[in-house]
Amino acid sequence: MIKQTTLLALLMLSMGAFAQRSYQITINDPDSSSHMALNEKLKSAFFKVYPTFAQADGYRTKRQVTLEFANEIPAIAGKEGEIKVNRKWAENKSQKKIEKALFEAFKKNWNSYSVDKKGGYSLTFISKDPGLDLAVRKKLIDTYFEIYPTLVKTFNDKSTHDVLFVVDTAYKAVAEASGNRILFSAGYLKAHPTDIDVVTHETMHIVQGYGYSAGPVWLTEGIADYVRYKYGVDNVGSKWSLPNYSEKQSYKNSYRITARFFAWLEQYVKPGLIANLDSQLRAHQYTEQSWVNLTGKTIDQLWEDYSKNPVVELKYNSK
Ligand SMILES: [Zn+2]
Repeated sequence: MIKQTTLLALLMLSMGAFAQRSYQITINDPDSSSHMALNEKLKSAFFKVYPTFAQADGYRTKRQVTLEFANEIPAIAGKEGEIKVNRKWAENKSQKKIEKALFEAFKKNWNSYSVDKKGGYSLTFISKDPGLDLAVRKKLIDTYFEIYPTLVKTFNDKSTHDVLFVVDTAYKAVAEASGNRILFSAGYLKAHPTDIDVVTHETMHIVQGYGYSAGPVWLTEGIADYVRYKYGVDNVGSKWSLPNYSEKQSYKNSYRITARFFAWLEQYVKPGLIANLDSQLRAHQYTEQSWVNLTGKTIDQLWEDYSKNPVVELKYNSK
């Protein structure tokens, strides 16, 4: 037990060091020799604050930052790739105070920043879209607290309780999850304000947490859409549904096509199958043989059976 804890602490330390190495700061100070202590303090504050800012900032935030001294500003200002500091202000401040002011300065780049907590779960919500509809913002937050604890309890109780949502105008796809962060396209939300169960699909990716090369992408995405189908809070309101079977389809089509096949498998072959595959994927124990072990048939045989009689009873949740 002690050994495991030590190993984890070491692992976290080395991850911290890596994060530090992947960001760079250049302090533009021709007179640096007479300000070494201050510059070291600023550098340390940068490494404490910038990785958190950049991770929260979302899409392709610059990793190389230049710091300049500027006496025309009262204290400290910052945006991606750039920090400005009033030297006189900084000289009298503790490192902690500088860190706090720096993070506050970075936050000004965002149109909104909030942290909500409920029932042991938290959601940090950042919007970089000045036009984000407040009603949509509220629905995304409410959906998180409504669905995420259920997904964690149902599929993976080791999953994080702290999630970050970022709405970004520079991001052009629909949404994506990485680590504990979900990035939403501002444009997509504007065009599809009722599609709140994107939250269900994406937070399921956090719960899945399979890591690399655990299984095929169609399976990961098929599970996330099956979960959206089954647990989604308002698929009716967003007119989201599973498309009918057609001969052109394959289970490898992924997303909703695979999800409908999974609904059929759960109904006619083996209830609980998807949760079982999900936990095998997380444990990196999934292989094609998993289908045979769980159902007595290969995935191709199962799809063949489905194609012969693809009738399935579907029920969608609504608000
Ligand atoms: Zn997905």
